[in-house]
Amino acid sequence: MTIICSACGWLAPTLLSEHGAVRYWRCVCGQWLVSEADAVTATPGNSDFAAVPTS
Ligand SMILES: [Zn+2]
Repeated sequence: MTIICSACGWLAPTLLSEHGAVRYWRCVCGQWLVSEADAVTATPGNSDFAAVPTS
């Protein structure tokens, strides 16, 4: 399984936590990555986690 940071292209973010098939990673650039099975499913930002447009 290879996780690639979508922000900087780093190939080996640090695995911080696992919940079943869901894994939480943090890159050296500060980007968080969430993967499920073998696919990255989310890349929440540092502070804009809830900044989803509602319009
Ligand atoms: Zn990165």
